[in-house]
Amino acid sequence: MSTQQSDAPADCEAEGKTNANNGSLSVSDVLAIMEPAQTVAISGHVNPDGDALGSALALRDLLEAMGKEVTVLLGQDSPPPALYEFLPNYHFVQASEYDETPDLYIVVDASTAKRLGTAEKLIERAGDTLVIDHHARCESFAQHYYSNTTAPATATLIWEIIKASALEPTLNMATYCYVAIMTDTGRFAFRNTDRSAFIDATEMVDIGVNPAEISKLVYENKTVQIMRLEALIIDRLQFAFDNRVVYTYLLLDDLTMLGLKRDDTEQIPTILRSIKGVEVAILFRDEGGEGVRVNLRSRGNYSVGNFAYALGGGGHAGAAGLTLALPLEESISTILDNLVKDPDFC
Ligand code: 5GP
Ligand code: MN
Repeated sequence: MSTQQSDAPADCEAEGKTNANNGSLSVSDVLAIMEPAQTVAISGHVNPDGDALGSALALRDLLEAMGKEVTVLLGQDSPPPALYEFLPNYHFVQASEYDETPDLYIVVDASTAKRLGTAEKLIERAGDTLVIDHHARCESFAQHYYSNTTAPATATLIWEIIKASALEPTLNMATYCYVAIMTDTGRFAFRNTDRSAFIDATEMVDIGVNPAEISKLVYENKTVQIMRLEALIIDRLQFAFDNRVVYTYLLLDDLTMLGLKRDDTEQIPTILRSIKGVEVAILFRDEGGEGVRVNLRSRGNYSVGNFAYALGGGGHAGAAGLTLALPLEESISTILDNLVKDPDFC
């Protein structure tokens, strides 16, 4: 039994909208939807993480093995994260350059249309649309949903689909799903880590996945520049609410100066949360004209997912994000003001 609390945004029902767990398909329904499609496009959320990438690539391999023509799209014009370049056949097409009309468009690891970036246009264009996801959801933008907010990663749902298909899981499929589950559970340590994560991982190891090798590639592969970035960010730590909250910031120029990309910041919020006594860790990233990206991490009972949702973003109880169209200083005060006003936090 999963001990994870549902982190559905509290206001879903108040808005008269349905939650993702309602009306989800069965695995056999998912396979039946995939079956007739000849051409399939897949994409995850913008600034894809290990789960979005691993889920999309594993699903690509499954659909290709079923004889379909599959394209994995990136909803952004910047390249995919270099961190995951070790994954086999790490190939993507930018959605802005994809003009086809696939029979089926599958969204993985995203619960809102706006998180799809330039791939959003596929929702209207594709013959059929299916979302496979583990985020809480209030809006419906696709025809079909296969979702479960207690799944530790979207890749656990993909793994279920692979196993329910008539095909044998391959080492590559297992590798993609393992990387996805390992990163979304923070190396099997975050509160979303449950029995199913370990069972799936065991099955993947049985197929030939090497946990030590993969862990080394993802977590022990930092450049000196990334270490310098971490030093800079730690140097700027600020504490609030009796040290229950820690926050820090990053300027666009910091990345340019260190020769880094925004993907290189992926592991920073988790580092901040590891400080003794901290309940909520926040990274503010000034993106210049595009506003300020806010990455939130929580431990304990407070749901940063609900908090982010109320401000137009989303995510899970323990990890969430949002964008504010405000200058950095105002973004920081807006977040702290909203936290102090939140009865769930205080
Ligand atoms: P991260 O801080 O690593 O970007 O995201 C943490 C979690 O929150 C991920 O599950 C991610 O998909 C979700 N998330 C981050 N930013 C947003 C956002 O702006 N909107 C929504 N709906 N989810 C977000
Ligand atoms: Mn995920």
